[in-house]
Amino acid sequence: MNDAAHSRSGAGEAGTSAPGRAPSSLRANILLVDDRRENLLALEAMLEPLGHNLVAVTSGTDALKELLRRDFACVLLDVQMPELDGFELAELIKQRERSQHIPILFVTALSLEERHVFRGYSAGAVDYIFKPIEPDILRSKIAVFVDLWQKGRQLQEQAEQLHQRELTALAEASEERYRRLADAMPQIVWTSDANGAATYFNRRWFEYTGMTPEEAGPNAWHAVVHPDDLPPAVGQREGTLYTGEPYEIEYRFRRADGSYRWHLGRAVAMRNGAGEIDYWIGTATDIHDRKLVELQRSFIVAAGDVLARSLDYRETLRVVAELAAGEFADWCTVHVVETDGSIVQLAIAHRDPAQVTFARELQERYPPDPAGPTGPAAVIRTGEPELIPEITPEMLRASAQDDLHLELIEQLGLRSYLCVPLKGRERTLGAIALVASEPGRRFGAEDLALAEELGRRAAVAIENAALYREAAERAQAARVLATIGDGVFLVDRGGRIRLWNAAAASVTGLDEAEVLGRRPEAAIPGWSEVAGLVPVAATGEAARAENVPLQIGERELWLSISAVGYEEGTVYAFRNLTEERAFESMRQDLVATVSHELRTPLAAIYGAAMTLRRDDVELELDLHDRLVEVIAEEASRLADIVNDLLLASQLDANTLQARIERCDPREIAEQVIAAARVHLPGNVELALEAPDDVPAAAADSAQLGQVLGNLIENAIKYSPDGGSVTVTVEPVDHRIRFAIRDSGLGIPPDEQGRIFEKFYRLDPDMSRGIGGTGLGLYICRELVRRIDGRIWVESDGRSGSTFIVEIPQHTTAATVVAHRRISSAA
Ligand code: ADP
Repeated sequence: MNDAAHSRSGAGEAGTSAPGRAPSSLRANILLVDDRRENLLALEAMLEPLGHNLVAVTSGTDALKELLRRDFACVLLDVQMPELDGFELAELIKQRERSQHIPILFVTALSLEERHVFRGYSAGAVDYIFKPIEPDILRSKIAVFVDLWQKGRQLQEQAEQLHQRELTALAEASEERYRRLADAMPQIVWTSDANGAATYFNRRWFEYTGMTPEEAGPNAWHAVVHPDDLPPAVGQREGTLYTGEPYEIEYRFRRADGSYRWHLGRAVAMRNGAGEIDYWIGTATDIHDRKLVELQRSFIVAAGDVLARSLDYRETLRVVAELAAGEFADWCTVHVVETDGSIVQLAIAHRDPAQVTFARELQERYPPDPAGPTGPAAVIRTGEPELIPEITPEMLRASAQDDLHLELIEQLGLRSYLCVPLKGRERTLGAIALVASEPGRRFGAEDLALAEELGRRAAVAIENAALYREAAERAQAARVLATIGDGVFLVDRGGRIRLWNAAAASVTGLDEAEVLGRRPEAAIPGWSEVAGLVPVAATGEAARAENVPLQIGERELWLSISAVGYEEGTVYAFRNLTEERAFESMRQDLVATVSHELRTPLAAIYGAAMTLRRDDVELELDLHDRLVEVIAEEASRLADIVNDLLLASQLDANTLQARIERCDPREIAEQVIAAARVHLPGNVELALEAPDDVPAAAADSAQLGQVLGNLIENAIKYSPDGGSVTVTVEPVDHRIRFAIRDSGLGIPPDEQGRIFEKFYRLDPDMSRGIGGTGLGLYICRELVRRIDGRIWVESDGRSGSTFIVEIPQHTTAATVVAHRRISSAA
């Protein structure tokens, strides 16, 4: 309160009203304005008995302040005041809207001059009170004005009350209308205050939730929103309460029976004229069916995606079970039929992993009966789905094996069950079972349809995986067949070749294109002769291989063939034994020839030695010498044979080094011819034809000597009827050519290729009595090859033969090349 003013309540500050005084509710404010405190005190004293609120101020300015602050019944105004006098103040009071109707009484000691009185009235005074003041007159005048004010106030209050009542009635009427409308709506409707505390729920709310109006407190919705959906719902609600933006969310509301249904919740803020939030109107619309379809669709899409993503169907089915247990049911199990026909549980999933452990233990303790009338095994057996919308306590009791079992399965809280087969093209591959344990969740036909769709997709995934595995195995088998060293071919039941692997082609020299689709007897030369020799084993039986010869064109192949018959035909597998066979015959040849070749000199040596040892006959000196000579010669022949064998084996093992150097071909030829002349038969002439200036050759001179020696020796040996042997040496195109020409037996053209093979002899039975090991030409070829030379024979098979050897002339490059060859051969 302003210091300049002091207020005195006639009723006292404690509000105890004295008898005859105005009741406090109607107590009026009276403003007393006088610059002199004693005058104010006097006025207060006079007016106090009226019991009104007296506000006394000593200046016009303070008076104006008070007039702004409260409502006055009247103003008692001293006319003569310094600064602002009573008339001026009255004019100001009358100018202000708020105070213009307040009655003003002038208190004055001035003369009753008309001029003054007129000025007072014109300034807005309603009355004059002249000093000395008569208290009764003052009080009665003031009482009149207070009375007037009080009446006015009463009227105003009444009018206000009336207005309020009308408004309330109006509001009630409209609220009632809205309420009826809200109650008639199928949705849940509610209102809340600006802070979000619920103020109203419509009838649908109570019907749906089963709550009573007493239970429906300001946060009743928290109790019915699904626990999983509550945190986001509350969070979002708090956000919109703050921002005032519309609220929209999908959440599950618990129905009176305990089941949850999806709702779309919406709330909009209603604002007052000042734009502040007055209250919120909210609705919750049941979107359960739409939402389920949506969820199911997205579940099927997600599951299909998982199933298609990998060929490891066991793993994907586990993931699908987890998915189903989270979105579609509470439990999900997947059973599959193994190749041996047994049924195994591939997956078991629940929202809560602890439950899974519990269920597993339960199953271990009470394994389900595979021959039982219901359950996955039964669904797999019959191929028919099962649907139990509601699992009753009786059903549980019937399926329990004992009291403990019943207690345990009751703990699982199974409420609704369905099981669908995983149907493959030819058989049932397994079963998917779904169980709901949430209260109020019942599987129906739609769920069954969804599960069947899931089952179809899972079955496709399993079959795809199997097909892929088969294809992969086939591809693997094909790769193995392609790379295997054994020839493999398949003859179908119609007798046609359906498969011909790379080894079969390379062994026989017959291309896949030549044989596929044809009968083997037509496609494989010589097959008709050997087909009957190959035993065909039944599938699973050990196949026995048979060695058979197959004449393909010029080549004779030795094959070890085995065959197995199976439902689509016969598979033949063969191995090329030609080389082994050749080696084997070579071994036999070696034994035959070499032993014969060894036996001859040995017999001669033995005979000579035995003769020399005899003491019963006196040997002539001449004979004695000849016998000793026989022994020496035959021993040397033996040594030659052994040397040849040794050399051949060194060449085979690639352990023989050639020491290539510059050498004189003519000189080497002369030396060899000189050595041959020692044992030259009388009917054979041996001559050398060579220019004096034969260029130097690049060769191992000892080995070249051996080659020429062998060839000259053969030329003499295979001229049993005598004749001439001519050795020519000449340069030909940077090479040195040796030719050993004889007029002997000759070599038929078709044998000329083979005489260089090891142990090969034209006349193994020695019809002409010419012995040998069959190693000489082989050794020649190998030695010549090693010095980068060539050897061949020219003969018409009748009039002698010419063996030709060509070796490089000596140049720096030739030596280098030859060295390189040796090092790479080694
Ligand atoms: P060998 O003379 O010990 O039998 P070779 O390897 O030296 O062995 O010769 C292989 C075969 O080639 C001989 O058995 C012979 O039939 C034939 N042959 C070699 N040289 C001549 C030749 N100059 N004239 C006719 N036949 C020959």
